[in-house]
Amino acid sequence: MMTRDEACDLFRSPDLIGIGMAADAVRRTLHPEGVVSYIIDRNINYTNFCTEYCTFCAFYRPLGHEEGYILPKEVIFQKIQETLDLGGTGVLMQGGLHPDLKIEWYEDLMRSIKQRFRIHLHCFSSPEIVNIAEVSGLSLRDTIARLRDAGLDSIPGGGAEILDDAVRHRISRLKCSTQEWADVHLEAHRLGMRTTATMMFGCGETIEQRVAHLQLVREIQEETGGFTAFIPWTFQRENTSLGRTVKEEATAVEYLKTLAISRLYLDNIDNVQSSWVTQGLKTCQVGLRFGGNDVGSIMIEENVVYSAGAHHRAYEEELRRIIRDAGFVPRQRDTLYRTFFLN
Ligand code: SF4
Repeated sequence: MMTRDEACDLFRSPDLIGIGMAADAVRRTLHPEGVVSYIIDRNINYTNFCTEYCTFCAFYRPLGHEEGYILPKEVIFQKIQETLDLGGTGVLMQGGLHPDLKIEWYEDLMRSIKQRFRIHLHCFSSPEIVNIAEVSGLSLRDTIARLRDAGLDSIPGGGAEILDDAVRHRISRLKCSTQEWADVHLEAHRLGMRTTATMMFGCGETIEQRVAHLQLVREIQEETGGFTAFIPWTFQRENTSLGRTVKEEATAVEYLKTLAISRLYLDNIDNVQSSWVTQGLKTCQVGLRFGGNDVGSIMIEENVVYSAGAHHRAYEEELRRIIRDAGFVPRQRDTLYRTFFLN
């Protein structure tokens, strides 16, 4: 098992290809069948009102802002119907932190979706869950259990950014702490729910802070085994206040190196995602030889990412082509990374 010092040394090493080949070997051990998966799902941002003012975020609007919205249920239903019509299997629903939406609002939303549709609900990142618990006066465990009973199937890893409180204090001062992010995932796993882990890097953190993030994710996985996947992506500067101080976005080299080191460090997590949404198709494709075995969603409506300037779009055939050309078999999966019932 790789130590923190070894991971830091790799980050400082110029041997990009060597690191990639080592990660590819781990990928091959975990996925010897040579399949690269993707999902057809849709991101629904149910509200952009938010009280947290994260400096890297171009998506939120303060309470009362004229561009703020809370999606009516009918609009959410329509988006889900369109997702199912296009062969989708799930929705990733996330939003800002709204002080007036208590747990009953979320329970009602989950229940009314499940009454109408057979769809996997992958919703509410850690900061949202912490917020729902706070405004409802509930423990994290009770909050997650009630959401699960209302229809929540799994929890996305968003809101992790860099799991180091010094970094969080700088870029998302009001948002949940490192410990709170971890607690949501630990509680969810203990309740039998699966979650994903993410990392947004390139926001001015040190290599040591990035490795501390990987270490925490590895420790949680050792304890619970509840993470399905690790999804690293890069901070997108455009339209953000953090973009005025962090002048340079992470390069493709830095992305590929971080992806590969994630694959090496987190060998107890089955899936690592190579992201076309933030890196573009070509870097995503190379990422499949740097430890990635999944390319994420083909149908994205991710306002958090799009309003920060990542305009890459691809459709299923194009994505299948780049997977095949990298030497892999493309296969559709569901939110829990199961491929056996599709294709
Ligand atoms: S990243 Fe999330 S919590 Fe932070 S301001 Fe944006 S919507 Fe709010």
